[in-house]
Amino acid sequence: MTTEINQTGNADAKPVCYLVTEGNPHAYPLLRCDTVTIVTRAEWGANACKSVNYMGTPVSVVFIHHTAMSECHTQDACAEEMRVIQRFHQVDRGWDDIGYNFLIGQDGRAYEGRAWDRIGAHTKGWNDVAIAFSIMGDFSNKLPNAAALDAVKAMIDLGIKLGKITPNYKLYGHRDAGTTECPGQTLYELIRTWDHFGRVGDQPPVKPTPIPYRPTASTGGNY
Ligand SMILES: [Zn+2]
Repeated sequence: MTTEINQTGNADAKPVCYLVTEGNPHAYPLLRCDTVTIVTRAEWGANACKSVNYMGTPVSVVFIHHTAMSECHTQDACAEEMRVIQRFHQVDRGWDDIGYNFLIGQDGRAYEGRAWDRIGAHTKGWNDVAIAFSIMGDFSNKLPNAAALDAVKAMIDLGIKLGKITPNYKLYGHRDAGTTECPGQTLYELIRTWDHFGRVGDQPPVKPTPIPYRPTASTGGNY
């Protein structure tokens, strides 16, 4: 599924606003920008990534993570936390960039990580076939607030509308594909109840075949 997008949007849905990444001639139409706001890399003060590798979309797998680090409840605090996490991933872990595709704050905003088209560093073995949303905080013993949970769902819907996530996607917690407690026991118990949760019993998820990358008008560009 390829969605060609121009300034007037596609025929199926009329974008109500656009996200333009700094220096990027392309724009993301934000079909649900009335319900979720994406804070761009420029807005949270990202460092440049070391290299960029793209994956084919739409992906059919979505992973939910928590950062197991600090919570944040305002845009200023979440922007600061994004810079802390990016430094941790780039410097201490030695990765190209902050690992997740998007991070979610309890201010109800989504923060641009590797965005929709870039291979992340979030779920070993699955990074080239999945988009990962990570809620900032530790949700082992408590849930994220409603604003953060609503933002995750709105971002998945936005990903579907942009042609980045298949409508019949499967959703997993990080722990379904690795030896980790992530996304925290309490949050994991919640996402197990969501419609697209894909784990059946103790069966491990089956990795789909990666699809070739093809640039589209909504591919992000300035990293
Ligand atoms: Zn994780």
